[in-house]
Amino acid sequence: MTSSLAASTNPALEADPALVALLDAELARQESTLQLIASENFTSRAVLAASGTVLTNKYSEGYPGRRYYGGNQVIDEVEDLARERLKQLFGAEHANVQPHAGANANLAAYMALLDAGDTILAMRLDHGGHLTHGSPASITSKVWNFVSYGVTPRNDAGPGEVIDFDQVRDLALQHKPKLIVAGSTAYARTIDATVFRQIADEVGAKLMFDAAHPAGLIAGGAHPSPVGIADVVTFTTHKTLRGPRGGAILCSAELAKKVDGAIFPGLQGGPLEHTIAAKAVAFLEALQPSFSTYAHQIVTNAKAMAVALQAEGFRLVSGGTDNHMVLVDLTSFDAELTGKEAQEVLDRAGITCNRNTIPDDPRSPFVTSGLRFGTPATTTTGMGPEEMTQIAALVSRTLRHRNDATAVAAVRSEVAALCAGFPPYPER
Ligand SMILES: *Cc1c(COP(=O)(O)O)cnc(C)c1O
Repeated sequence: MTSSLAASTNPALEADPALVALLDAELARQESTLQLIASENFTSRAVLAASGTVLTNKYSEGYPGRRYYGGNQVIDEVEDLARERLKQLFGAEHANVQPHAGANANLAAYMALLDAGDTILAMRLDHGGHLTHGSPASITSKVWNFVSYGVTPRNDAGPGEVIDFDQVRDLALQHKPKLIVAGSTAYARTIDATVFRQIADEVGAKLMFDAAHPAGLIAGGAHPSPVGIADVVTFTTHKTLRGPRGGAILCSAELAKKVDGAIFPGLQGGPLEHTIAAKAVAFLEALQPSFSTYAHQIVTNAKAMAVALQAEGFRLVSGGTDNHMVLVDLTSFDAELTGKEAQEVLDRAGITCNRNTIPDDPRSPFVTSGLRFGTPATTTTGMGPEEMTQIAALVSRTLRHRNDATAVAAVRSEVAALCAGFPPYPER
């Protein structure tokens, strides 16, 4: 275990052994198992350090220069630092760094652009859309009227299971949405904002690009940027962007007031300025040339994992990947195996991933027929294509021998040995 990060060596936590034990157990889990959840990453120590600062003590409702409470002179500079870095990173006119999460960023964007009851055209959840894209379980579907587009049918001969732009256009013409949402939580292909823009313009809709997943790939130049094409771009700061857990919004100067007002006072109370400081750190990191190398390596690694998983007999949704994730259809590998069971046995083998619906999944979203793997975290630790190939083999072995506890335990030790060579927080 990395001593300097261990809670047990932190004198400030001395009085709370129960929590220290939990923190150290989680550190050990992160260090000794493979983190393949596509929405997770390892932040830098600098991001961790900024998160745990006295900025958590301060109330700062409002925005720099316009706060409701006194004593915000320093806080204003912190938030401005984060906003300026973020604008520079994406070449945006305006940035809001206060969203507590990606979900809040999306809600605020809807609030800024729409009235209650307006129609939004977004991606179907079972084809890769996010809960905030109109799930019946989400407040979004109770406030706005959602119409959903999906991906094209499976086509083993060519590009199938890609966004069906004919359908997007037909639905847009038919329902005249006020807003079209591009972006996804489980889609392994590049999302082209320009095609969405053309369709939005044709029907007089605004365009929002939810870049929660690819934000880091965009920042690093590995994916095309929707900034300047979409009216509003929302994203999370903790996925490929490798910052602290949170959200952010980019928009034109013209929409700035509406977007800011939607976050506060529309949706949130006081901002988390310690997290905003950590976001500033992450944005500075993402501005470095090394981050571009990282972003491209994420994609290289995902492609290597995709090829290796296919060689192991797994069918991939959309036939491969352009980004940081691989969506596996388990039905061709083993018709009996559900996403839920696969996730659970892989967890026992130290391979952390999540079950995922495949397009038109016959099973429920709680069970599913697929798995989603992502490469942001393993890439951060320095793993490359060779390790991705090794991981694909370990996944395959675990699932083939899922009823053999000895075999699963053997994989777990191999995983631990692999992880030991790529510590997320090496001693420096
Ligand atoms: C992760 C994600 C979100 C939400 O982010 P949270 O921080 O979990 O609220 C929104 N949209 C998409 C497409 C996502 O993948």
